[in-house]
Amino acid sequence: MNSSARRCFRALSRYRVGCGQPHIVNSTAFSRQYVTGARQWSTPLAKKLAEAIDTTGPIPVATYMRQCLTSTDGGYYTTKQADSDQFGRQGDFITSPEISQVFGELVGIWIVAECLSQRHATGGIQLIELGPGRGTLMDDLLRTVRQFKPIADRIESIYMVEASPPLREKQQRLLCDSQDVKETEAGFEGISKHLPGAKIVWCDQLKDVPKDANRMPFIVAHEFFDALPIHVFKSIAPDEKASSIITTNNPHAPSLKKPNDWRELLVSPIANPSKLKMSPSGQSQTERDDFPEFQLSPANASTPHSMLLPETSLRYQRLKTMTGSVVEISPESLSLAAEIAMRIGGGPASSPTSKRSTHKAASTFHKTPSGGALILDYGPLSTIPANTLRGIRSHQLVSPFSKAGLTDLSIDVDFTAIAEAAINASEGVEVHGPVDQALWLETIGGRSRVDALVRGADEEKKSRIEGAWKRLVDRGPTGMGQLYKAMAVLPCLPGMEGRRPIGFGGDVVI
Ligand code: SAH
Repeated sequence: MNSSARRCFRALSRYRVGCGQPHIVNSTAFSRQYVTGARQWSTPLAKKLAEAIDTTGPIPVATYMRQCLTSTDGGYYTTKQADSDQFGRQGDFITSPEISQVFGELVGIWIVAECLSQRHATGGIQLIELGPGRGTLMDDLLRTVRQFKPIADRIESIYMVEASPPLREKQQRLLCDSQDVKETEAGFEGISKHLPGAKIVWCDQLKDVPKDANRMPFIVAHEFFDALPIHVFKSIAPDEKASSIITTNNPHAPSLKKPNDWRELLVSPIANPSKLKMSPSGQSQTERDDFPEFQLSPANASTPHSMLLPETSLRYQRLKTMTGSVVEISPESLSLAAEIAMRIGGGPASSPTSKRSTHKAASTFHKTPSGGALILDYGPLSTIPANTLRGIRSHQLVSPFSKAGLTDLSIDVDFTAIAEAAINASEGVEVHGPVDQALWLETIGGRSRVDALVRGADEEKKSRIEGAWKRLVDRGPTGMGQLYKAMAVLPCLPGMEGRRPIGFGGDVVI
């Protein structure tokens, strides 16, 4: 099948340079005026959030994101969109698997290459995708893996971790033979149309996917981590008055400066949002449909989150002394990374002196390390993301605090934090990357696949396939090739120390 031509059109990817706006006000003032009177809210979810904040006080960004994206009461992914889904021309953004079939095919090749390299593991294979969107990546992946019969025959089950009921239905229609689909408590279960020996099961969370020490788990997460909620903290200087200690015994003692504090940035409604903007000519004012209804402001005291989360890594601690520094931390991403690592490497760490996690779920789970996880997303190579929360609607960057539930929210992924969490959770894993998406795609053989697809194609189709590929590997400052990254969590295997996996500087080891 050749579907590159169908998919190739220009639409906004979810990442844009410089789109992260601070959205921060300096005061800690929290006004209740917004609930009184007959204030109109842009969406029922915005109203519900404002009412909840009126009762409980300002909420962490993580709570706001969670509600906006996956609330059963009007969340962006969990509520059916009027006439289309989130992707493509009619939707809000475009993703790599929707741009070119080559993307999912190369993910399939990567899994095949890893299976061949890990010769010690000969049992069944469990494929897991986190946040599969329309199911396009999995469809292209399975169509490719099917060509490698000895490996395809080992795939017993495919798990789709998906929060969105409408997208689950789409995935099921694309991936399953319709007559075999049955409803289960957790959702659907069906048989793969590409691999009739493999069942496809839908789950809410990775935790719901059975752990099996005899199966090789392969986990794919494309543009999933960027949708996971973050907490945001800002380093605040201590009150000057309280910062020096002068005793009567020694009135000239040098002042002892109190250290900075982390303060969590919280979301609260804006009292009087401005719905008006100047027209381009500057002559008149028009009503904006993207005006922010909420804002960020620092909590007026430490919170359990601000006392705990930014102290968990030296990377954050180093920034604490720099007044005004902002760090974004996603505990949900970190525990997901730990869960992924333990599925691949087994767990927990055995040495009592090890600083590695003692995750409870791991204590009953031992296995020979095998499988792998591929995380493809956008974010910096090593720095800590700051001010990266963005809103996307109809291929435009908009305020993340506008039209709650109708606006997609995303953040830059902190790859280093994910790598740290994975390595700390299991001694049986190693992390490769992140590397630029362009390097990953090119070194797996993307160019040869594109050459094969354009062979014999007419000029129009050729230019569409080439255009889509160019977009995926574009290394320009706003191109997907450089902004998007690939990172792998792989088993540490005796005798294979120092190996470089395919796509990360190495070749298949056979
Ligand atoms: N991987 C797909 C879709 C990316 S959009 C692609 O690249 O095209 C994010 C996907 O993650 C959607 O399928 C969305 O419904 C799902 N998702 C977002 N938050 C989720 C959560 N907390 N749990 C499960 N799925 C989630």
